[in-house]
Amino acid sequence: MNKILKKIINDTKTFANQGKVATYIPELSKMNKNISGIVTIDMNNNIYSAGDTDIKFTIQSMSNIVTLLLALMDHGEKVFDKVGKEPSGDPFNSLKRLTNKNTDKPYNPMINAGSITITSMIKADNKEERIARIINLIKDLTGNDNIEINMDVYNSELKTGDKNRSIAYFLKDKNIIECEVCDVLDTYFKQCSIEIDCFDLANIGATLANDGISTITNKRIIPSKYATIAKAFMFTCGMYDDSGEFAVEVGIPAKSGVSGGIFCAVPNKMGIGVLGPSLDEKGNSIVGIEMLKLLTKEKNLCIFN
Ligand code: GLU
Repeated sequence: MNKILKKIINDTKTFANQGKVATYIPELSKMNKNISGIVTIDMNNNIYSAGDTDIKFTIQSMSNIVTLLLALMDHGEKVFDKVGKEPSGDPFNSLKRLTNKNTDKPYNPMINAGSITITSMIKADNKEERIARIINLIKDLTGNDNIEINMDVYNSELKTGDKNRSIAYFLKDKNIIECEVCDVLDTYFKQCSIEIDCFDLANIGATLANDGISTITNKRIIPSKYATIAKAFMFTCGMYDDSGEFAVEVGIPAKSGVSGGIFCAVPNKMGIGVLGPSLDEKGNSIVGIEMLKLLTKEKNLCIFN
């Protein structure tokens, strides 16, 4: 498997030239667009890797799955009173549907409006407790106790996050979020700035692929039905407004973030974490998608085969 992964890294390197790193969060523009890494973890916790797997980067909207899981564990499926289940087909930070007076809730928990709403629903007495609960669940899902926030990225998001502020104030105006806008945004910017690596991403994927049970400790982290819901959203909405294309071309549940990471949960088979900071116009890692195309073909991972 390590040999296969090494060949995949070599065969996809040049795709980095076709995109660019995210710049709208200035700190993210410092990433080297030519690095790439891939890690897979199977259900027996066999770990395989190739490329730049020692690089740390921020989780960005891949954290939306973690916050969705927390909100589901707090409230059950009442979560969907406030957030829908449908792909939007719009860019992740679009305000378009939110400003429409007939829209009574964000389309799904993966777009920014849905994710900010989900974050507001996580039970906590204050914002410190809320982010601590998110970090603790990431520690459990990754089996990594050294999960921290990258404060440079957090400050960069704070400085440039006006689109997210607009979204949050619309949500507040429509009574979709009930707590203080500033507090919710602080948690949202912090959750996006949590640092992880490809191993952490593969571990999150492996736990979800394994029905919510950690492949490291064999302990249940997530109730089975919520692990299933998470994988469903990854499949339908995880790759921004390219989720349909990815479903047809690759065919596995995956969630992408603008740092260039993608994690995947192939049910009962494996978790995958990839990094490639060069993004396409939708916000997905170009090299990451190419790596996943080759791996899923080689290992016959498409969930419909
Ligand atoms: N922090 C980013 C934002 O709010 C996350 C975007 C993403 O990864 O989809 O714009």
